Amino acid sequence: MDRAKLPPPNTFAGLSLVLDRVAERRDDSAWIAEQARSAQARYLLLDGAGEAFLQCDHERLRWLEISERERWLDDLPASLLGIAGEHPHFLLLLDDAARITALETALDARRASLRAAGLLLPAPEAGLFAYAKGLSHWQRETRYCTRCGFPLQLVAAGHRGQCTNPECGHLHFPRTDAAVIMLVEHEGACLLGRQASWPPGRYSTLAGFVEPGESLEDAVRREVAEESGVIVDEVHYHSSQPWPMPASLMVGFIATARSRQIIMRDHELEDARWFTPQQVVDGIADGSFVPSTALSVSYQLLAHWLQERAGLDLDALVAGGDSR
Ligand SMILES: [Zn+2]
Repeated sequence: MDRAKLPPPNTFAGLSLVLDRVAERRDDSAWIAEQARSAQARYLLLDGAGEAFLQCDHERLRWLEISERERWLDDLPASLLGIAGEHPHFLLLLDDAARITALETALDARRASLRAAGLLLPAPEAGLFAYAKGLSHWQRETRYCTRCGFPLQLVAAGHRGQCTNPECGHLHFPRTDAAVIMLVEHEGACLLGRQASWPPGRYSTLAGFVEPGESLEDAVRREVAEESGVIVDEVHYHSSQPWPMPASLMVGFIATARSRQIIMRDHELEDARWFTPQQVVDGIADGSFVPSTALSVSYQLLAHWLQERAGLDLDALVAGGDSR
C-alpha cells in the first residue's frame, strides 16, 4: 500500500511500535520483581480519577524513578505495562487524594486528564497514558467476582483478577467495549450529527456501542438508522483507536447511504444533516461549523473524507478558521 495513502495515526494508537507488552512473561513473578527493582524501571502514577502526573515545565509525562517509588509508594502493587527500549514501564494506582496532592508537590508535577494531555504529549507517551488509564480503570472497578461475590486478587502483573474463593477461582480479564464510529456519505455530502449538550456549531460523525450478536458492519447500519433514519449500504473499515473513557475501542468506518432522507426517531441527537465539502469550508470560516477535536477518530474520518473527495486539508481549514 502506498504510504501516503495510509490514514494518519489516531491519537493513542500505534503503541505496538514502541512498547513490547511481554504478555508471555506476566506470570513469571520472579522476572517481574527483577524488572520492578531495575534501575531502568519507570513508574507512571495514576490517581483514582485516571489522571496522570505531567512535568511542570514540559508537555511530558512525569515518570517516577525506582528511588522515588521506593521512597513514597513502596506499599502499592505495580502493574507491568511492558518494555520500551531498555526501560520496563509500570503502572501505579493511588486512590488517596491527600497522598496524591502531597506527591504532586514533592515530585514537582501537575495532574492532567487523558483528554487534556492527549494532544500535548508525544504520541508514544499519549498511548502509554491511554493504556495505563484503561488498565487502572478496570482494576479499580473490578474488585469482586461476578460469579460468587468474593474479592478478587490481581495476578499476572496486574492483568488478571483471580477470585479468592478457593471453590471458585474464576479469572477475570480486562474488558474493552467495542464502539463503531462512521462517516456516512452520499453523492458528495457527508452525514454529521450533534448532541444538545455539545458546544454551539459542533457536528460529529455518528457513533454507538456494538450489541451482542452484531458484527461491526451490522452495528454501523443499526446505529445510523436509529440516530438519523438513514439507510446504509456499503460499510468499509477505516481505522481504530483505543478510547479508555473509560473502556472503549472506537472502530472507524466510511459508509455509503442509499439516499439522503433523514428521519429523526429517537432523540439521542438534537440534529443530523448533510454537509458538502464547501459547506464545511464555509462553516469553519464563519464559525458556524466546529469539527470534533483532533483527539478523536471522528476528526480523522472527516479529514480523510475531505482529502479524498475534495483535496481539502482539515488541519489547514481549522487553523485558518481560528485566525479569522
Ligand atoms: Zn468467584
